[in-house]
Amino acid sequence: MAENFSFYNSLTRSVEPFVPLVPGKVSMYTCGPTVYHYAHIGNIRTYIMQDVLVKALEYAGYDVKRVMNITDVGHLSSDADTGEDKMLTGAKREHKTVMEIARFYTDAFFKDFQAVGNKMPDVTEPATACIPEFIHMIEVLLEKGFAYKAGGNIYFDTSKLTDYYVFSSAIEKEQLEVGVRDDVEEDTNKKNKTDFVLWFTKSKFEDQALKWDSPWGVGYPGWHIECSCISMKHLGDRLDIHCGGVDNMFPHHTNEIAQSESYLGHKWCNYWFHSNHLNDRAGKMSKSKGAVLTVSLLQEKGYDPLVYRFFCLQSHYRKPLEFSFDVLDSNVQVFNKLIKRVAELKNDGAVDENVKAEFEGKFRDAVSNDLNTSMAITVLYDALKADTNDATKLALVESFDRVLSLDLIGHARALSEGTDVDPELARYVEEQIAKRAEAKKARDFATADAIRDELLKKGVEIKDTREGVKWQII
Ligand code: AMP
Ligand code: ZN
Repeated sequence: MAENFSFYNSLTRSVEPFVPLVPGKVSMYTCGPTVYHYAHIGNIRTYIMQDVLVKALEYAGYDVKRVMNITDVGHLSSDADTGEDKMLTGAKREHKTVMEIARFYTDAFFKDFQAVGNKMPDVTEPATACIPEFIHMIEVLLEKGFAYKAGGNIYFDTSKLTDYYVFSSAIEKEQLEVGVRDDVEEDTNKKNKTDFVLWFTKSKFEDQALKWDSPWGVGYPGWHIECSCISMKHLGDRLDIHCGGVDNMFPHHTNEIAQSESYLGHKWCNYWFHSNHLNDRAGKMSKSKGAVLTVSLLQEKGYDPLVYRFFCLQSHYRKPLEFSFDVLDSNVQVFNKLIKRVAELKNDGAVDENVKAEFEGKFRDAVSNDLNTSMAITVLYDALKADTNDATKLALVESFDRVLSLDLIGHARALSEGTDVDPELARYVEEQIAKRAEAKKARDFATADAIRDELLKKGVEIKDTREGVKWQII
């Protein structure tokens, strides 16, 4: 039996009880990455929170099917269908073909995606694999009078809708209208400023690499069509939950709803789950800004990717989160202490099922209440402090980790066996120790001390012994 579950639905702008289309089952769609560059840790925050949503629903007894697209075609540098093609820009930058770029960054994405404990979606589908489906949807939109041809391109006609800005309050609508008027480069083909391209045959850049035949000439799809089609292909005409970052609400999700519901003739998706951004001191992290901080880079610097997950879980997904290495360093310390506490637990007999059920209920309430992950972690600490035996505590840690996915038991076991070190971290520590030895040799004690202090911040203590330098996780 699936339990009560509530979360914030951007469509109704309120926290609502979740009622799935089919009892006990959840169909979920996630906007996947644009694969012209590495996904930064901000993108990964969004995917961590979605993973927690999947696992929290499963913890509450639901059976979730999740589908994700890969945007490997058609996303222009402005969300408003103008500017350069992002894939092409990536290919030019790296002197590779667009498909090589797509393959490389898709692999890099899923490596980082999984390193932070995320479960792979049940289906992942690149946009380039679904061109016939896009063409079909556009044909129907044209037939039904929701789309028009102009200057060789096919546009969606937003004036055909009574409520286009579905996610916005009256004031936000006014602001968006002003924004759209001011931002969008003039495309004289458009009948209305908010109209968007479904299919391009004429674009500003002549050398668009990927093109397909269509009833309207050789061209390529607009960005939004892929999510509507890929979702319907795998999850049918009605969807429970659609996920994305807050920047996806407008225009991307707004346009997805416009075209999907016009195509279907009925409501498409009941719940929209949007998570907020990760910022650094300079503001919102963005792929197009250039240098990107990735999970792999964090690993190279000696951080366990699950510490980044731990950091994300402590704040609410609807609030912006500011990243800094200082905060990450303090998370390392707290995480290591937590692991130590788990490692101290002995498997000392029978699990007290009443106590277990009581804490599991508290944990389920936390994650089922608009994904209160920081409360869920508090429940974990409360369970570790509880007046019960270690076997029960261990069972609870294991149970909570089905949602938290911090590999608490695995880390604890490795700590007890003295092998608790991520190979990346071990390599990094050895490198730093070698650098410190060189600095000492050169009598540069300031550098040597700085290296020791930096390692200490990461939870690694080094000791000079007669047998050489020894180190341990503290
Ligand atoms: P993209 O690959 O740029 O389409 O982004 C992939 C996902 O990351 C989308 O759902 C975006 O909404 C989300 N996203 C983009 N920037 C950030 C950020 N700074 N923090 C969190 N999520 C983000
Ligand atoms: Zn999408």
